Amino acid sequence: MKYIIVTGGVMSGLGKGITTASIGRLLKNRGYTVTAVKIDPYLNIDAGTMNPAQHGEVYVLADGGEVDLDLGNYERFLDISLTSDHNITTGKVYRDVIDKERKGEYLGATVQIIPHITNRIKEGIETAAHRPLEGGRVADICLVEVGGTVGDIESMPFLEAIRQMRGEYPKGDLILVHVTLVPSDTMGDHKTKPTQHSVKALRELGLQPDIIVGRSDIIMSPSTKKKISTFTDVPAKAVISAITAPDIYQVPMEMEKEGMPEVLTSLLNLGNREPDNSWYNLIGNECTSRVTVAIVSKYGIEDVYISIKESLKHAGLSLGTEVGIKWLDAESFTCDELADVDGILVPGGFGHRGIEGKIRAIEYARTQGKPYLGLCLGFQLAVIEYARHMAGISDATSEEMGPGSHVIAILPEQEDVEDLGGTMRLGDCEVLLKKGTRIYELYGSETIVERHRHRYEVNPEFIEQLEDAGLVFSGTCGRRMESCELKDGAFFMATQFHPEFKSTPTRPSPPYVGFVRACREMKGQQTE
Ligand code: GLN
Repeated sequence: MKYIIVTGGVMSGLGKGITTASIGRLLKNRGYTVTAVKIDPYLNIDAGTMNPAQHGEVYVLADGGEVDLDLGNYERFLDISLTSDHNITTGKVYRDVIDKERKGEYLGATVQIIPHITNRIKEGIETAAHRPLEGGRVADICLVEVGGTVGDIESMPFLEAIRQMRGEYPKGDLILVHVTLVPSDTMGDHKTKPTQHSVKALRELGLQPDIIVGRSDIIMSPSTKKKISTFTDVPAKAVISAITAPDIYQVPMEMEKEGMPEVLTSLLNLGNREPDNSWYNLIGNECTSRVTVAIVSKYGIEDVYISIKESLKHAGLSLGTEVGIKWLDAESFTCDELADVDGILVPGGFGHRGIEGKIRAIEYARTQGKPYLGLCLGFQLAVIEYARHMAGISDATSEEMGPGSHVIAILPEQEDVEDLGGTMRLGDCEVLLKKGTRIYELYGSETIVERHRHRYEVNPEFIEQLEDAGLVFSGTCGRRMESCELKDGAFFMATQFHPEFKSTPTRPSPPYVGFVRACREMKGQQTE
């Protein structure tokens, strides 16, 4: 097992996650099996209880782990399925060490950050790295991205653990990539001082980078690279420019041009393998049409809905259709703003803010014949909309939202749940699709496995009444309704599960493909 550790300097938000995922892609294209670990130095056990408006989307893994959105980037770029263990947080590390102490497993010892916390961090990285991927293969290379910025108090124990690992592994088995900002001044000249300072901070912790990735607006000149090299002892050819690419999936190709693969393979003693670049052809698919989808949401912040945004892109790539997004605030949009879009999407969410607006958007889609895709809360609200306007249950609502007829009710096993962290219905569940439905046609299979994250469900007491009124429950899991659709008219589909967590550029998600295709057909009809 070889390790590539990725740290960040100067400031957060430099695209360290995309850099990490892209490095993985370069190695995967060269036939190596790659896995990835994300370290989040915060005290939360996981991202499940965190406000997505501050930290971005809570990504859900197959095993139900609620994790940082970067794991979504790794899964999408590398076509792998990760586990909760691949997201290490300070919360998890300290909880384990303290639990062990209470059990008396360190009996007699003074329990300390070094070695007990650092040992737990090293074990955590090594265990996750060796966990077999799909197909039972253990990765050749593990990427480890350290969240936050070098110098943060919270990341100290992690960087110390990495310093120790560096001493324990042979030279070519563990390398360090430092991602930093290289701004330019008003004259267009690159400024290297922030990079010099952040490498200095890293060295004070005993870590010398092997590669520096400089995020900049324009490609760094050889003289800028030379200057960074002089101050940091990183050879100029290992100072790599990372400019903002038009699309994240183009970042590996940009790194390729900067010579990143040669630097990586030489540092890791990997030898020169001919790359298979078929992934680039897929990503570079020419788009011959364009559609616009309205996402009616509470936050309207792209990072909160990153998996949805990417899934629309993947579906579009497979169809040669570019998908533009019109973000509409569920609380303030007007239906006029929906008139010029080709489809409407209501994403997942929690709490009552904005739900009446979302219901209005769904009603608009259904009555005006615009393609609709509803996800999780967007599924529950589609059921509520149908109940109110088509099944005569005028006060239909969700138990989550307050009084009324609870067409959506709490899952029975959730009734006594008190803790909020990690207690929802989470992760992979098998769903049975009804033959003859649109969703069955899209998946082409009777049983599918998709990821979940919810506490409420369609109330079984109302199912018959809703079905009699014409709503088709097309997917189920035991007594649980998993998807619904309308038989006739425009594409109208909603799922209790989150298909966006399994979509990758090579494996676009079927409901998204169906939706984008319907949007394209809709647009075609309008322009004919
Ligand atoms: N709030 C709803 C529930 O808990 C929907 C959750 C979601 O959209 N992820 O069931």
